[in-house]
Amino acid sequence: MTGECILMKRAVICGVRAAALVDAPEPQPQEDWVLVKVHAAPMCTEYKAFVAGDRREYLGHEAAGEVVAVARPGRVQVGDRVVVMPAYPCGRCRLCIAGDYIHCEHMVDFAALAGSLEGSATYAQYLLKPDWLLPAIPDGVSYEHASLACCALGPTFGALHAMGVGAFDTVLITGAGPVGLGGVVNARFRGVRVIVAEFAPGRAERARQMGATVVDPRARDALQRFMELTGGVGVDCAVECSGVVAAQRLCIDATRRKGQVAFCRRVPRPAADHRQPGHAAQGADAHRIVALQPEPVPQGDAGHSGVAVRRTPDEPRAPDEPDSGGVRAIRVG
Ligand SMILES: [Zn+2]
Ligand SMILES: [Zn+2]
Repeated sequence: MTGECILMKRAVICGVRAAALVDAPEPQPQEDWVLVKVHAAPMCTEYKAFVAGDRREYLGHEAAGEVVAVARPGRVQVGDRVVVMPAYPCGRCRLCIAGDYIHCEHMVDFAALAGSLEGSATYAQYLLKPDWLLPAIPDGVSYEHASLACCALGPTFGALHAMGVGAFDTVLITGAGPVGLGGVVNARFRGVRVIVAEFAPGRAERARQMGATVVDPRARDALQRFMELTGGVGVDCAVECSGVVAAQRLCIDATRRKGQVAFCRRVPRPAADHRQPGHAAQGADAHRIVALQPEPVPQGDAGHSGVAVRRTPDEPRAPDEPDSGGVRAIRVG
């Protein structure tokens, strides 16, 4: 058996809406990097790549699975059911030690350490992961549900936690895609009243089924509707989950004085119409804006979420960046 290469299957994108399974060498555990058999891998940004035909050899950055081999005794054992956290943070920097490893700025060079990118993809039968990035799945929770702990539920969990959202609050969630619907789950779990801004019928209906009041943000009286739903004062907190610049503005406008706004999605550089003097500054003194980076962007992966307000008060502003009027931007996980 020595030297024999064991093969596994790995998914690749080979064209527009075209994917295939290829044979790939099964990765081998080393040091504290253990071998995980993938049982469920959510379709996240990979779906966009699939639709666009963005050819990729290594897909997927989140999963749930079972530890099947270890190189040495460590934090997990063979047979453990685990969530596979995204990316490969260093584990040693200040952010990693504080538990904010999702924000690590010193990601491990997987290929340099493992010899190739084999084992880095979750759209494969097996992958490699440092044992400290494999939290246990509680008994009674399926692999499918556990796999939602990363991008589907993680960003808004962090946002609601950072804002201290409680049962007496009303929360606005803009965008009812996977991240936004995860926000509805997290908000409902906290007993929070949820208003969702969404116009896509299927997504709007799903949000309603999950207990949210849905408003079409394209309606001319959308802002008025938010006010009517909140006794004229605005929502206590807003969580932007659409990645649309106009939704950022909507979040700020629909939030009450001294309320809080969190941005969970990567937003393009400000467009020209977002750079009108005072545009971003209006109302900014009344809100604490929480910028989230729930998911680092894996190598070769476009990522679906990130920091919407990257600048801290000390960082210089780019020439085309709007004046935030002293808005405090905080990165949380
Ligand atoms: Zn780190
Ligand atoms: Zn993801």
